[in-house]
Amino acid sequence: MKVCVFTLGCKMNEVESASLMKGLEARGFEVTDKLSKADLYLLNTCAVTKEAERKSRQAVARMRKFNPKASVVVFGCAAERGGEKFAEKEGVTLVCGAQGKEKILQRLDETGIFREKDRSFSELPPPGQNRTRAYLRIQDGCDRFCSYCVIPYLRGRSRSRRAESVLKEALASPSKEIVLTGIDVSSYRDGETGLKELIGLLAAVPARIRLGSLEAGVVSAELLAAMKKAGNFCPHFHLSLQSGSDAVLKAMNRRYTRAEFLACCRMIYETFPDAAITTDIIAGFPTETEENFEESLSIIPEAGFARVHCFPFSPRPGTAAAKLKDLSPSVKRERMSRLTAAAEAAEKEYIAKFFGKERTVLFEEDGGYSENYIRVYAAGAEEGQLCRVRLKGYERDGASAEILEVL
Ligand code: SF4
Repeated sequence: MKVCVFTLGCKMNEVESASLMKGLEARGFEVTDKLSKADLYLLNTCAVTKEAERKSRQAVARMRKFNPKASVVVFGCAAERGGEKFAEKEGVTLVCGAQGKEKILQRLDETGIFREKDRSFSELPPPGQNRTRAYLRIQDGCDRFCSYCVIPYLRGRSRSRRAESVLKEALASPSKEIVLTGIDVSSYRDGETGLKELIGLLAAVPARIRLGSLEAGVVSAELLAAMKKAGNFCPHFHLSLQSGSDAVLKAMNRRYTRAEFLACCRMIYETFPDAAITTDIIAGFPTETEENFEESLSIIPEAGFARVHCFPFSPRPGTAAAKLKDLSPSVKRERMSRLTAAAEAAEKEYIAKFFGKERTVLFEEDGGYSENYIRVYAAGAEEGQLCRVRLKGYERDGASAEILEVL
């Protein structure tokens, strides 16, 4: 990320900007004091004359000319005197006064501006080695800005891990199952390698692989064909729906319609007839009418969900949806209870389809998951065993099974 620290006014300002630049360099940023194309501009302003104030405001426009997408942070004397005049300018994301200069790096950290602008993926050591299941980070951040979600403000913009690094960690993992995780796995991209290509590379991994939560829009015939060809991907798709109503989806800034989501489910079942499609649905979004809510209920059997995670709407400060008038707690509670009942019925129906059929289950301490995400309990199963089993009937939150073979 390139940061431009542009300074107007006195020697004092220059000295302060120079120390700010040193702090930025120490954090690994490319820093310049020349007004040129950058990802983030820090403008140290001057208010010694009216003309100096005008020039300070004009500098914001000059910065935006170099990069209209860049954020501008304004500080110094003119920001202290007329902060509101800067705050209303497009692109200005933060105005600090003259007093706060020494704390500017800290303020930038707190407001998330560094994270927002930094698109490099932070490599972390793999989490503790586990012979059963490993979670492998492939992506972080999110650019989607759903109206109810605070994540893009907290975790910053989407960035992906290098494909070769993903493959290296997957090949070195002793686990029998690897779950590819990220905030927005669908947006995975390392140069020419998107999610579909990554799936092709991971075919070489001797573990079964499960994809983390996906957006419906990423599911294509090509992606499904890549999974099928790889042979080691579980037929389990967690597609976040959030609402079955087009009006609510629009208010949530979700970029698909009910019909598009259902078309995506059909495409999955054509390639993987036994697929588990799991999802999340929010009950009681502020604009949700009773009719809208009933559309969320009716899509559950229509999509054939294997599991639905239900959440009551909860306003997150700083998001667009938090400014909307919230529904009453009693309406949200009542909708949550109907949604949860519909979710439980769907899960039971999905599980029952596999009674008498064989599944492959990776057992943990107490039960395990089949490739299509049914929780399975079998007498004699040991932690870490991958077994071929036959499902018998309902047990607790899943199904009972007899072990046919330890793989
Ligand atoms: S809900 Fe998911 S896709 Fe939407 S903004 Fe939040 S993290 Fe991104």
